[in-house]
Amino acid sequence: MINFLPLGGAGEIGANCYFLKYGNAGIVLDCGLHPQKSGIEALPDFNLIQDQPVDYVLISHAHQDHIDSLPFLVQRHPYIKVISTPQTRAIAELTLHNSISIMRGQINNDKLKIYSHDEVDLLIQSIEYRAYQEEFDLKGFSSKKNTKIKASFHDAGHILGSAGVLIECDEHRIFYTGDINTENQSLIPPAQLPKMKINTLILECTYGSTDSSSTNDWRAETERLTTSINRIISQGGSILIPVFALGKLQEMLAVISNQMTRGRIPQVDIYTGGLGRKISRIYDYNRYSVSRVDPEFELKNIPQKNLYEVDNPSDFFKNPCIVLASSGMMIEGTSSFRLAERWLNQHNSSIITVGYMDPLSPGYKVANARKGDKICLKESGELIEIKCHIENFRFSAHAKREGLIKIVEKLKPDNIILVHGEENAENWVGSSIISRFRGKRVFKPQIGEQINIE
Ligand SMILES: [Zn+2]
Repeated sequence: MINFLPLGGAGEIGANCYFLKYGNAGIVLDCGLHPQKSGIEALPDFNLIQDQPVDYVLISHAHQDHIDSLPFLVQRHPYIKVISTPQTRAIAELTLHNSISIMRGQINNDKLKIYSHDEVDLLIQSIEYRAYQEEFDLKGFSSKKNTKIKASFHDAGHILGSAGVLIECDEHRIFYTGDINTENQSLIPPAQLPKMKINTLILECTYGSTDSSSTNDWRAETERLTTSINRIISQGGSILIPVFALGKLQEMLAVISNQMTRGRIPQVDIYTGGLGRKISRIYDYNRYSVSRVDPEFELKNIPQKNLYEVDNPSDFFKNPCIVLASSGMMIEGTSSFRLAERWLNQHNSSIITVGYMDPLSPGYKVANARKGDKICLKESGELIEIKCHIENFRFSAHAKREGLIKIVEKLKPDNIILVHGEENAENWVGSSIISRFRGKRVFKPQIGEQINIE
């Protein structure tokens, strides 16, 4: 019997965290923080497992919504074993320290103790790391004597170190996709799925509601972006691209520099910032240790200026430039949010969005507005008229919805549990699976709703 219980990240893309009970073993898959919420509200609902055995947490990748609540889980379950890929561990060392400073200002609750940098150091040291395809045992907790639970990570093609998680016990195979991509990006190649039948698939649904026929592939989007950047630069404007510091910054740097090297975009200044630049170094260090589109390509060879060394934001408009600033969804208080407020006033410049926007995020408001519209960026702020150009592109690190269906076709699962998608995204994936394949059981649990699979 398998019990699956979402603590967050079901019917939403939020604090992704799922509890899996196999016999007497309690395995947590991912431990994310909701990017749109703050304080205790942003955490998964750990109370749902307070009376359960919690033995392991397996981390699929180092994005905030998959790992940033980890220190709080470890506070509650100090003997839990944390396991990830070595790349995820290396990135987490940077990102978890970074998130302390952000959480400090948000948490004022007796039930929740903010963790220190020293505690993060100890946590990082305690993370066991396993390479892709390396099988490891989750020992001793199975309901039957002498049975073992085996697990392994499989390249998910999403960001550096991202992994799908395969767990096997009593001849039942569970595969959790994490965030998964089935197509090439500029740096990271597609996912490498396990070559075996899976019994239960836990499937992300990010792009379930996006009609793939209306979206271009990576190469076509690169062409469209090149045209757009040239147009803005030729009229003397500057370009702001909100990106996640982890993954999207590195991929967009590669896209833009490839086009500059080929002479298809003028050699204007490129600005990047703190955390993203450090993560780029980890991408470079690992270019031979995991598969890459071009292992010879190094991000450090792309000339970049530090956006935090610009004292006056009006300097960005003196000469055409390209600014890659986090956060990707322009969350209030971040660099991209502050810069967007300046950019909206600039007639010749443009804000270019390149990825997924949560419908509640400021980035979503900007992406869905056009020149001349008035939008309210802050919750309680005033209306701002948009004077700059706004264009949206799709450089996705997630599978298209047809790609999700292909994963089902390849892995041949009997049971599919849908997670990590808005309501209508999970609905599309669920109904497509039911109409295309016979005899599949599809589950769409809510947070706190337990699923039992024999
Ligand atoms: Zn992710």
